[in-house]
Amino acid sequence: MDIKARGSMLLSEETVKNLIQKSQEAKKQAYCPYSKFRVGAALLTCDDCVYTGCNVENACYNLGMCAERNTISKAVSEGYRSFKAIAIARYTAKIGQNLTNASGKCEPAEPKITMTPILLSVLPIPVSKFGDMKDQFISPCGGCRQFMREFGASLDVYLSKPDGSYVKTNVSELLPNSFGPEDLSAKQVLNIPNKY
Ligand SMILES: [Zn+2]
Repeated sequence: MDIKARGSMLLSEETVKNLIQKSQEAKKQAYCPYSKFRVGAALLTCDDCVYTGCNVENACYNLGMCAERNTISKAVSEGYRSFKAIAIARYTAKIGQNLTNASGKCEPAEPKITMTPILLSVLPIPVSKFGDMKDQFISPCGGCRQFMREFGASLDVYLSKPDGSYVKTNVSELLPNSFGPEDLSAKQVLNIPNKY
């Protein structure tokens, strides 16, 4: 399958709900003692397997890994290259709240998730317009947008809130005019001898 043709799958509401739910569950494993910003992701493969992942931070801050990249790397390391969709979930602690106990598990428990308020629409509005953080759909960082782009500009991306509501977008909308693998295959460099 052409890499640009991937994604934009017409998923059933049940499949989407399941993917969102899995991303919500995955964020409970987040290791984020520094940012307190718990993120989970769930990736639907071409044959309907689901891989999940969370963010993993490090005392050397710049070594921290986002949930989206962890999730995609897990699936790729199992042999997958083609994906239908990815769902992303987040939960932000209140200031001063400790998310990790001595055993490394998150606490306190997540707020109860209800899957009732479903908003299914392609993103016509920038995610920053959705209000303050507690009411805001999560938005992947620039690095993760490029990482997802590697596996298809039309990969569907579901951005959710803690209450389970979500918006549907895709990599092209999140990263317009992007650079991808096919750009490297274009012969743009003339064969000029490297001699001086
Ligand atoms: Zn990221």
